[in-house]
Amino acid sequence: MIPADISICPECERELRDPSDRRFRYFFITCTNCGPRFTIIESTPYDRENTTMRFFPPCRGCLGEYRDPLDRRFHAQTVACPECGPSVRLVDSDGRPLRSDKPIEEAGKLVSEGSIVAVKGNGGYHLAASTLMDEPLERLRSAKERRRKPFAIMARSLEAAKGFAEVSKPEERLLLSPAHPILLLRKGLNYHLSDLIAPGLDTVGVMLPYTGLHLLLFDEVDDPAFVMTSANKPSEPIIKEDDVAIRALRGVVDYLLIHDRLIAHRCDDSVVKLVQGQASYIRRSRGYAPKPIMVGIGSTDNPTLGLGAELNVTSCILADGKAFLSQHIGDVETLETVRFLEEATRHLLDLVRCKPERVACDLHPRFNTSRLAEKLSEEFSIPLYRVQHHHAHAAKLLAEHRLDEMVCIVCDGFGYGLDGKAWGGEVLYSNGPEFERLAHLEEHPLIGGDLAALYPLRMAAAVLYDVPGFQEWLHERAGSFPHGEPEATLILKEAERGRGVPTSSCGRILDAVAALLDVAHERTYEGEPALKLEAAANQGRYVLNLEPVIEGERLLTKPLMESIYESLRGERARDLAYSAHIYLARGLALQAVQEAERLQVRHIGFTGGVAYNRWITREISQILKGHGYELLLQKEAPCGDGGISLGQAYVASQL
Ligand code: ZN
Ligand code: ZN
Ligand code: FE
Repeated sequence: MIPADISICPECERELRDPSDRRFRYFFITCTNCGPRFTIIESTPYDRENTTMRFFPPCRGCLGEYRDPLDRRFHAQTVACPECGPSVRLVDSDGRPLRSDKPIEEAGKLVSEGSIVAVKGNGGYHLAASTLMDEPLERLRSAKERRRKPFAIMARSLEAAKGFAEVSKPEERLLLSPAHPILLLRKGLNYHLSDLIAPGLDTVGVMLPYTGLHLLLFDEVDDPAFVMTSANKPSEPIIKEDDVAIRALRGVVDYLLIHDRLIAHRCDDSVVKLVQGQASYIRRSRGYAPKPIMVGIGSTDNPTLGLGAELNVTSCILADGKAFLSQHIGDVETLETVRFLEEATRHLLDLVRCKPERVACDLHPRFNTSRLAEKLSEEFSIPLYRVQHHHAHAAKLLAEHRLDEMVCIVCDGFGYGLDGKAWGGEVLYSNGPEFERLAHLEEHPLIGGDLAALYPLRMAAAVLYDVPGFQEWLHERAGSFPHGEPEATLILKEAERGRGVPTSSCGRILDAVAALLDVAHERTYEGEPALKLEAAANQGRYVLNLEPVIEGERLLTKPLMESIYESLRGERARDLAYSAHIYLARGLALQAVQEAERLQVRHIGFTGGVAYNRWITREISQILKGHGYELLLQKEAPCGDGGISLGQAYVASQL
């Protein structure tokens, strides 16, 4: 079994701080209990010569520890010390070395003073910047072409994190867990970091130092935290090679902190959020991959490979009741990410020693992942199964709970439906291999296709175009469109004609409400309007005089939008934002209960990217409780598309 990377353990941290220890202040201090694993393993079995540590023959001292059954480093493949192990150096943006006997501490000081420093970690490069100054963050945003997408930060300690964020007991446990994920924490009342870190959101992504190098970075500064965002060119995977880093980051960073240990496999930081008191994995990568998720036995007699959809892709190998998910690959829209997906998948097959007998992909005809599935299907001469997007979502929930059947609410941004329409607010029945669409949100046209997701006012227009006064309302906001007035006019005309692929997407309705409340008129990163709406709903109350309107299999969303539109003047934005969530949650929960009772199905679940939303999940859970059902949520698999490869493989393995 191939282990995941493990954050520095307390004993190693103590030695790092002990002047009498021979690894005092040594950045690559590790032991049998901690250190990189997955990111350094080139092939199996997990022995030093099969890792990128093979370039560092251990000295006598290290070898002694390695051979001593009583030593903490007995058979530790990563054992190393300042004498024999990797070394670290600080270079300028041209790769010229800076003279310093404390390169790590020096890098920390530079960051604290306003420089941007690329920091080589275990699974890839980070870009480090101050969390207190705006100037470096502005530079970082323009260089990374990230206008508003939140940056993750690394707090120097748990205490420091509590100085700007709310940390509950379970959150504390997650922050300190061996994986040390990025955890989305609520900004505290005492939040004093730059507003450029997570603009418009009430959460901030925080992780704690997980290597000796990270700990030393804070040694000679007072900063509570540094921005630590993965270094990559837009729409490319995280950088892992030194020469690539120097070339690609010229003009972005002022300095680079480099070490001479190669990264065998890149691995981004994991991202977790606490929802309904449970860890919910937004990105399951460093610290978790490739640890298997246990699923129902008997369902997986045929080793099956799933390749994901398009966004937040992972691949998955399902065999012997275990689902091995790859590390986070990202949005597979470019050649580089397709290549990364293929490499990571082949490596995973290698690690698991598995020859797949089936391969599964999304139903969408033009996804790159579907093309890769076709290629692998030919190469291995194995059958290819195309699994409907929301069916796969529901299946991954069934798999994790090892159930035979379920009524499942699946809400996300977009998935290709059986009818060619864009689904995304669905109530499904599934028994694993099969599914049935029982109910869904009212459909509205995606005016301008993908533009409807980028400019959520388009979605609002698609719903409200014929409501008195709305046309003037939209024209007042025409400045939010790239082409201004003429674009607004055209959108309204298209809306009247009902032009555009119909969508039942829940994400798009949340976007439309965000636009209506002037919370977000443009999406610069995935989920932005809906995330801002979730933040805006904080401390809101339900103020609409409206019960969910259900017509046949449809939960109507036009009455919701109309009701909010009519209340714009009288009610507070936070109450309207909250009410939108509650309306959708109540409606979907009622539809699910109704169907579960009709079909005599005992279990109801909720998944899809919208299931990260705390208001919707909480409300659905409460309604179900009132009807005698317990809401089932994902355990370890991501609710979003990061887990969809598991669902695809689960379906295909049973067909
Ligand atoms: Zn250790
Ligand atoms: Zn040594
Ligand atoms: Fe999805």
